Amino acid sequence: MHELALAQSIIEVVESKAEECGLRRVRTVHLRVGEASGVLAEALQGAFAMLASLSPVLEQAQLVIEVTPHRAWCEPCARAFAVVDFLARCPVCGAWSTRILSGTELQILDMEVEADDQQGSQERERNE
Ligand SMILES: [Zn+2]
Repeated sequence: MHELALAQSIIEVVESKAEECGLRRVRTVHLRVGEASGVLAEALQGAFAMLASLSPVLEQAQLVIEVTPHRAWCEPCARAFAVVDFLARCPVCGAWSTRILSGTELQILDMEVEADDQQGSQERERNE
């Protein structure tokens, strides 16, 4: 359910961006999802595919998800470490960290659009 709402938001953002830039078709949307963001990539893919098929701009668009690892910074050790099971505790000195470096983000990186630089193809499609 969370993923469905999320896919809807992504599609709304991409659609409005496409409209703003005068793009008629988006091929690929690149998304960065932190492993600790609570988003299930597979469920999001499924929800996106379903909703994108209903959108003229995003029909057949692909969602490419890049998962970033959950990492935190240990101040005493001055090193980054992997956060396991949401416990941001340094494996070397055992200190708890409050500085999360990555893994909680959710962000649209970019999108690939269909090249629309040929007047001819534009005319043809208008007649369909
Ligand atoms: Zn440490």
